[in-house]
Amino acid sequence: MGRWQGRARNVSEADMPTPMDLALSLAEAAAAGGEAPVGAVIVDGDTILAAERNRMRELNDPTAHAEFLAIRTALATRGTGRLDGCDLYVTLEPCAMCAGAIAHVRLRRVYYGAEDLKAGAIDNGVRLFESPNCHHHPEVIGGLGAKRSGELMRQFFQRLR
Ligand SMILES: [Zn+2]
Repeated sequence: MGRWQGRARNVSEADMPTPMDLALSLAEAAAAGGEAPVGAVIVDGDTILAAERNRMRELNDPTAHAEFLAIRTALATRGTGRLDGCDLYVTLEPCAMCAGAIAHVRLRRVYYGAEDLKAGAIDNGVRLFESPNCHHHPEVIGGLGAKRSGELMRQFFQRLR
């Protein structure tokens, strides 16, 4: 097990929910564009509100994480200032900034792929949603698509060396 691990959930590629499949495709597109391979999709029921990938290099913006961009797009799409009842699918465990944003917009559920042992802030690091200072606790389901996501991360960082 390396930095990008997944809990064994045994969701086969064929059974992968469509939004996570889309998020994984976006992660691949990010890698092809020289970005760290992370993709994120926000759904309201069956409706896709946002589908984004990392754009930190492209935008020269270290806050342009896939899920952060997806939150902003989904907010613009919905126009209510909240994303309660909506679910986020993201290929990598969100960082502290993104976990904070997830709590602020009150996403109902977070599905993420690989754990990020260094920068993750949900099941690693500060474990933001477990903090008494965090006033919204989304349901979290980790490890969905973790194998493919972790492999993309490993390939990307191997290429940088
Ligand atoms: Zn982030």
